Amino acid sequence: MDINQPRIRSLMRQASRVEEAGKRAAAEQLYRQILDEAPETEAAWLGLARMAANPAAQAEAYERALALNPENKEAKVGLADLRGDPVPGAWRKEVEAARLPEPEPMPVVKKEVVAATATAVTAPAADDHTETYEFTCYRHPDRGTSLRCYNCHNPICASCTNKTSVGYLCPDCKRDLEDKFFNASATDYIIAALVSLPLSLIAGYLVWRLGGGFFFIFIMIFIGGAVGGLIGRLTKKAIGGRRGRYLPHLVLVMMVMGVVIPGLPILLSAMAGSGGALFAFITPAVYLFVAGGSAFYWMK
Ligand SMILES: [Zn+2]
Ligand SMILES: [Zn+2]
Repeated sequence: MDINQPRIRSLMRQASRVEEAGKRAAAEQLYRQILDEAPETEAAWLGLARMAANPAAQAEAYERALALNPENKEAKVGLADLRGDPVPGAWRKEVEAARLPEPEPMPVVKKEVVAATATAVTAPAADDHTETYEFTCYRHPDRGTSLRCYNCHNPICASCTNKTSVGYLCPDCKRDLEDKFFNASATDYIIAALVSLPLSLIAGYLVWRLGGGFFFIFIMIFIGGAVGGLIGRLTKKAIGGRRGRYLPHLVLVMMVMGVVIPGLPILLSAMAGSGGALFAFITPAVYLFVAGGSAFYWMK
C-alpha cells in the first residue's frame, strides 16, 4: 500500500488530528499503524518522530524519513536538535512555515462535548469525499461512524455496538452493566464448587452403576434433565441466588468431574486397550449432555 491509497490518506488525516489534539500516545500508535501498512510514507515517519516517546525512537524515525528523502528539512532539523548540532536558521523557518496548520475545518473527535442520543447522525465532511462520518470509533480510530453509545456518548463503530431496547451500548458500558448484574462474590464460587461437586459425584457414580443398556440410555434422556436441574437449583440456593458470569461453567466442570472421577477405572482400562468398554460410555455421555445443559440453565 502507498500514501495514495484512500485508507492511508484517511489514517494520516486521523493521525494529524489526534496529534493536534495533543494525544501523543494515540498519535504515535496511529503513525505506527500507517507505517506497518505503508512503510514508504515519509510524512508518517515525521509524525512518528514528533510523537515517539523516547529520543532513540525519534532519531530512528527521522533517519527513516531521510532515507526516503535526503532533502527533508524537518528530519534534518529534528535530528540535529536531538543530537544538539547547530541548525541553519533558514531551515528552521522553512520547517515552521511548512508545519502551519492547513485551513482544514475537520471535526475533532470530542467524546464529552456532544450529548447526543444513539440515533444516527450523518454529517459529511464538506471537503472530504472518502470520509462521510462525523466521528471515529473510540476503540477503532481508523473506523468512521455516526453512532454513539447511549450511556457514555462515545462514538462506536457498527461492530462495537450492542443493540438494546433503548439504543446502542458500547462494549465497556455493556461490561459495566453486566458487572452490576453479576453479583456473586469469590466466596460464592467456592461454595458453588463445594456444593455441586459432591452432588455431581453421587450422580456420576449412580450413572456408571446403571451401565450401558439401551433402557438406561433411554431413561437418561428423561431423568438427566431433572438431575441436572436439581444440582443447579441446590447450588444456586446455597449461594443465595446470586449470579456469576462463570458460575454456570464452574458447575459444568464439577459435573464433568463427577462423571470422570468415579469412571476412572473404566476409562483407564479402556485406554489400556482391554476394549469392549465403549458401550459403557454412552450412558454417562448422554447424562452429561442432558444434565449438564439443565444445570447450566439453572445457574444462569
Ligand atoms: Zn458506553
Ligand atoms: Zn469499533
